[in-house]
Amino acid sequence: MKIAFIGLGNMGGGMAANLVKAGHAVRAFDLSAEAVAKAAEQGCTTFATVSEAVEGVDAVVTMLPNGAIVRSVYTAEVFGHAPEGALFLDCSTIDLETAREVVVLAQAAGYEMADAPVSGGIAAANGGTLTFMVGGSDAVFERAKAVLEPMAKAVIHAGETGAGQVAKMCNNMLLAIHMIGTCEALALAQKAGLDPQTFYEISSKATGYCWSLNDYTPMPGVGASSPADNGYAGGFASALMLKDLRLAMAGADTSGATVPMGEHATKIYEAFVEAGNGGKDFGAIFTTL
Ligand code: NAD
Repeated sequence: MKIAFIGLGNMGGGMAANLVKAGHAVRAFDLSAEAVAKAAEQGCTTFATVSEAVEGVDAVVTMLPNGAIVRSVYTAEVFGHAPEGALFLDCSTIDLETAREVVVLAQAAGYEMADAPVSGGIAAANGGTLTFMVGGSDAVFERAKAVLEPMAKAVIHAGETGAGQVAKMCNNMLLAIHMIGTCEALALAQKAGLDPQTFYEISSKATGYCWSLNDYTPMPGVGASSPADNGYAGGFASALMLKDLRLAMAGADTSGATVPMGEHATKIYEAFVEAGNGGKDFGAIFTTL
C-alpha cells in the first residue's frame, strides 16, 4: 500500500519505520527537519508539505500532539488532496469531541476515517508492539487492521467513532489512580513499620494487586523493576499522564460522568508537573509522599 505518515516524533518515527519494514511505500512529513531526515534514513520517501505526501495514497496515518493540530492538518492539508475513498487513521491521543468532529468532516469530504489511539510507549512504537484501540464501523475496522498490524501487538475494535479515544482516556485515568494508590500504600507500609518488599510480596498476591504494584513498582529497589530504579528517568512522563488526565476530565464533562478520583488524580499530577517534574516517570509521585 501507499501510506502517508504525518507526525514523525518519538512515537511516529518508529511506527513509520515499521510500515516500511512491512513492505509499504511510506510517504512521510513532519514540521521538524530532524524528524524528516531520520524517516528518510529508515526508508520513507519524504515531502515538503502534507498535501504532497497524501497524493495518490491508500491511507493516511497521523501521530500528532493534540486535537487542534489534528483538525487543522486534516481540514487544511489532507481533505481535497488525498484521493477520494482513502482511509484516514488518527493514532494521536486527543479529546473526544475533536476526534468525533474530524471523522464527520472526513466522511462529508468523501473519506473513511477511524480514531486509533495506542497504548504502549516509545519502545513499543519502535518494536511494533503497540495496542491499537479503534473506533469506527466494522468495515472501517477491517480496512484499518490491514494498515495497523505491522505496528501492533494487538488491534482491538473498541466500537463506533470515538470509542478508541474513550477506551484510551478511561484506561489512563484508571492507571493514574492505581499508580497514586500504589505509591500511598508503599509509603504507608514503610512508615508504619512494615518492610516495603514484604508488603510487595503480600499485596502483589492479595487483593491489592494491580499493574502499578506488580509490574511497575514505583519504589526504588522494591518489587518489579521500573524507572524508580533509575531515578525515575525514562518510562511514561508525568507531563504526558497529565495530558491524558485532562482529556479524561474533558471527556467526563462532555458525557456527564462523575469522576471524583480522576479529578483528584488530575490535581495531584498538575501540582507535580507545575513543580518542574513533568519529565519524570509518572511513578515519581512516590517521592512526594
Ligand atoms: P512528539 O512531540 O515526539 O511528536 C509529535 C510530532 O508531530 C513532532 O515531531 C512534531 O514536529 C510533529 N508535528 C506537530 N505539528 C505538526 C504538523 N502540523 N504537521 C506535521 N507534523 C507536526 O510526540 P509523541 O510522543 O510522538 O506523541 C504523539 C502522540 O502520541 C500524542 O498524541 C501522544 O499523546 C500520543 N502517545 C504518546 C505516547 C508516548 O509514550 N510518547 C504513548 C501513547 C500515545
